[in-house]
Amino acid sequence: MSTLFISDLHLDESRPQTIELALDLFSNFAGEFDTLYILGDFVEHWIGDDYCQPALQPVFDALGDLGCRDTAVKLMHGNRDFLIASAFAERYGIELITDDEIHIDLYGVPTLLMHGDTLCTDDVDYQKFRTQVRSPAWQREFLARPVCERLEIVASLRDRSQIAIAGKTGMIMDVNQNAVQRIMRKEHVSRLIHGHTHRPAQHQFEIDDEPATRRVLGEWKDSAVILVCTPTQCELVHWPKPAL
Ligand code: MN
Repeated sequence: MSTLFISDLHLDESRPQTIELALDLFSNFAGEFDTLYILGDFVEHWIGDDYCQPALQPVFDALGDLGCRDTAVKLMHGNRDFLIASAFAERYGIELITDDEIHIDLYGVPTLLMHGDTLCTDDVDYQKFRTQVRSPAWQREFLARPVCERLEIVASLRDRSQIAIAGKTGMIMDVNQNAVQRIMRKEHVSRLIHGHTHRPAQHQFEIDDEPATRRVLGEWKDSAVILVCTPTQCELVHWPKPAL
């Protein structure tokens, strides 16, 4: 009995090695996990369900296969792929999670799952941008544009974001500890799992004198940091395993 958590694969045709790594993981462990949670930013960008890079098709097919081998696949929206719609996900047997956070019972431990971008409350510019692109009006207008225009818009947003990131400190782009504790208190959980910041770690702290943990998943490049949970433990592990 085990559950696998991954996030921030940022899959894109320009990074075939990451696509291979994902296919390796899915085929190596097909059927071994009860549930696979993908906590956002599965793909580098998603401009609407009417366009999928051909290079990514095998990855969605592999997710579909997992579903057929008794691994439930659950995909949470990240800040890159929030336009994936449930009709697309359903085609591959994937359960789409569109909420900013969900509360699950993980082998008896109440656990909160998030992508993590909403915890970065110090990044005021990003939060403003997020509010804009998550509005139904913005999305309707964007999705009505031809594919080529949408690709251009995404490329220019990415350029702007890279310039903005270069001008921000690491602190601003990390989660705000008050925001972390606020949501954990509100949801009555002592365990939080999220991605987004690309700073894999296990943080231990206290909320109202009770021990609490925050596990952060890593981004994918030539390797990844993933989280494997069983009824007795939750462990961040490297994929693929480093050679001895
Ligand atoms: Mn993200």
